[in-house]
Amino acid sequence: MRDMDELFAALAKSRFRSRIKLGAKEQEYLQEKGLEIIVEHGRGFITERLAPAKPKNDGRQTPMKNHPVFIAQHATGTCCRNCLSKWHKIPKGKALTPEQIDYILATIERWLRARICPKN
Ligand SMILES: [Zn+2]
Repeated sequence: MRDMDELFAALAKSRFRSRIKLGAKEQEYLQEKGLEIIVEHGRGFITERLAPAKPKNDGRQTPMKNHPVFIAQHATGTCCRNCLSKWHKIPKGKALTPEQIDYILATIERWLRARICPKN
């Protein structure tokens, strides 16, 4: 796991990661549901698709669209176990710990929070 400010500075320097954006549909869904509910959905995705020691279809388990969390995962390098290893120093081949899951969700939440428009 990495320091979050350092991580976000590194992500901003990645041409691929920094270009990833929410589509209109995902943006609308985020606004409508609110950050808290969206992050709870994220907990389900991470637990099912990333947490096992050997996740199913690892490397292809995170779609490129259809949920704000999926987009946030690609943008933050939390989309598969290779990216978790490369970007976050979370070793492959071992089930994620509750602390690692919380850290991943905090990363996703930070990315999404910067993209939510305050309701008025
Ligand atoms: Zn990945």
